[in-house]
Amino acid sequence: MPEYLDQDIKFLAGVGPKRAELLKKELGIRTFRDLLYYFPYKYIDRTKFHAIAEVRSNQTYIQVKGKIRAFEVVGERQKQRLTAVFYDETGSMDLVWFQGIKYIRENLVPGKTYVVFGKPSVFNGRVNIIHPEVEDKASEQFKTGVLQAFYNTTEKLKKRFLNTRAINKIQYNLAQQLQGKIYETLPSKIKEPLKLISLKDALRQIHFPESSHYLQKATFRLKFEELFYIQLKILSLKHSRLEAFKGFIFSHVGYNFNQFYANNLPFELTGAQKKVIKEIRKDLGSGKQMNRLLQGDVGSGKTLVALMTALLAFDNGFQASLMAPTEILAIQHYNTIVKMLTGLGVKVALLTGSTKKAERKKIHEQLESGELQLLIGTHALIEDTVSFSRLGLVIIDEQHRFGVAQRAKLWKKNKLIPPHILVMTATPIPRTLAMTLYGDLDVSVIDELPPGRKPIDTRHYFENRRKQVYEFIRGQIEVGRQAYIVYPLISESEKMDYKNLEDGYELMKQVFPRYQLSMVHGKMKPAEKDAEMQLFKEGKTQIMVATTVIEVGVDVPNASIMVIESSERFGLSQLHQLRGRVGRGAEQSYCLLMSSYKISNESRKRLETMVRTNDGFEIAEVDLQLRGPGDIEGTQQSGLGVNLNIANLGKDGEILRIARNVASDILSDDPRLEKDENKLLLYHYQKMKNTEFNWSVIS
Ligand code: ADP
Ligand code: MG
Repeated sequence: MPEYLDQDIKFLAGVGPKRAELLKKELGIRTFRDLLYYFPYKYIDRTKFHAIAEVRSNQTYIQVKGKIRAFEVVGERQKQRLTAVFYDETGSMDLVWFQGIKYIRENLVPGKTYVVFGKPSVFNGRVNIIHPEVEDKASEQFKTGVLQAFYNTTEKLKKRFLNTRAINKIQYNLAQQLQGKIYETLPSKIKEPLKLISLKDALRQIHFPESSHYLQKATFRLKFEELFYIQLKILSLKHSRLEAFKGFIFSHVGYNFNQFYANNLPFELTGAQKKVIKEIRKDLGSGKQMNRLLQGDVGSGKTLVALMTALLAFDNGFQASLMAPTEILAIQHYNTIVKMLTGLGVKVALLTGSTKKAERKKIHEQLESGELQLLIGTHALIEDTVSFSRLGLVIIDEQHRFGVAQRAKLWKKNKLIPPHILVMTATPIPRTLAMTLYGDLDVSVIDELPPGRKPIDTRHYFENRRKQVYEFIRGQIEVGRQAYIVYPLISESEKMDYKNLEDGYELMKQVFPRYQLSMVHGKMKPAEKDAEMQLFKEGKTQIMVATTVIEVGVDVPNASIMVIESSERFGLSQLHQLRGRVGRGAEQSYCLLMSSYKISNESRKRLETMVRTNDGFEIAEVDLQLRGPGDIEGTQQSGLGVNLNIANLGKDGEILRIARNVASDILSDDPRLEKDENKLLLYHYQKMKNTEFNWSVIS
């Protein structure tokens, strides 16, 4: 039997077929339930009344009580508007309507007391409210509670009179009918210790709060529930993965690892690198498959950790593969790794899209015979023709460029027991988000840079300082350094006036006539791009003009300046990622953020954050707060979208932590939710849509 709440929204009083169509199209509200879970975005206190004489046009929303003196229609036809003088004992203001003039005139009566609510503005020196909400004080109005809820609507809806107030009214109609129709979703054993109110009360209070205290209780309860069920899902998936998948045991620390440590390692490992290697070794000895995300800022030495993990694989008779997102990065990894492994006798090969057929064939044979121990490459690695004899470890660099499906394909490459997986990312993900997105991956963090690194000196310049910036670049190039100049992407349709890459290139040629310039952008063929990169890397060009294609991983230690044009156009994590291209050598590096004068508050906050800190995790936290989790780079591309209705991962970290602990306790006592006391949880757990949290593909 379908539940009451699953009814089509058109059957609700005050809706009907026409409005139902609009609600579906514009807001995705199809059923009673959808409406019930369409929560307000803000609340306004309606216990306060203002004296009309005190109303100022800079106030947000105000409420006044008074009478209409007279109506006046001003203007011709299309431009007609209706104004009414509205007064109380302190003074008067205007009420203005551009639409529904006839209706207003017929229904509002001069001399009668009304409550008027709206946003004040000013016209011809007089304070007014355009399209106010007018309520008849005498007739019994529906009770909105003390705090009035505000709902997001769209222009289309507003045109058809489905404004926030109208939604408020249909919410009220729905609320009248819910007696006995809402079933509790959390058992008392969870609710009581946390003092959570019932779902029924929470849903009532969220739309019609009796006080800010109740509103807070309702919000907490609903956020908790949302985060709790997500955690329950993630943690139980993790649990079943651990149960289902055995892992190879790398128990042996042998020749490769020891030799490397004693002879090849040119520096001390940082404390953070040691800690992470320990965590990895624990996984590798556990008999379960490792699924670990390695987070570390650019330059923190992740590659080295990955390489040492691979050495453990070789010591235990296994092969390893390292997958990079671009050909140039794969080549770079190949070169550094071959150099670092000098004298060890490990057999390494490089496989990319441009590997020649004969070479490819040889690689395939050597992989199957087990002669080849480490294969480094791009997407070419996951082609079906590539098969290993004993693949024990898969390392994925710069994780956010890979899709979930690609990862899944990779680790099917060992038929019986899946290889251990180490995913590396330089896009730091805040803990709260990592707990949700990668809840079933274990997370290691390298939170320390190798000693001696000079923090990158970041500065923000407006247009008027452009000359000085050029002088500064010139000075650096004169002492032998190189510079990147990055322009934002421009799409043809965008009318606004952004710096165009081509223009930029021409301009730079004029500004720096004595230097050689390179240019790369996304539309170039990979081979062309690589050739330009190579020129820059070899120092044959001094300036690299580029789009964000240079964002990922390329190492040019001699480049010490990163200029970002129209920096207000970039997201925080992208700015940070770009800045990471410099600061890789011994010299002091600089990041110069150019912007126009007119920037939004949010842009200002981003640039300030960049100037203030080099810490990727701090930047990620700010980013999360500014943008919200759905937008964080990497989460969309990887297909791990989280749809949260009320909780906010940027702000509700503490509730998330509580929810996770509760979920974890329950699962450790009853991993499959088989106990009677967990029946309710199992029921709602199973009802959760699987599609939104399809982690099973990665694990
Ligand atoms: P990531 O991949 O995290 O961006 P890399 O592994 O490429 O960083 O390391 C950046 C640079 O730092 C490399 O040149 C590497 O050799 C060097 N490096 C790594 N670990 C250390 C260390 N413990 N001490 C000094 N230098 C290190
Ligand atoms: Mg790297």
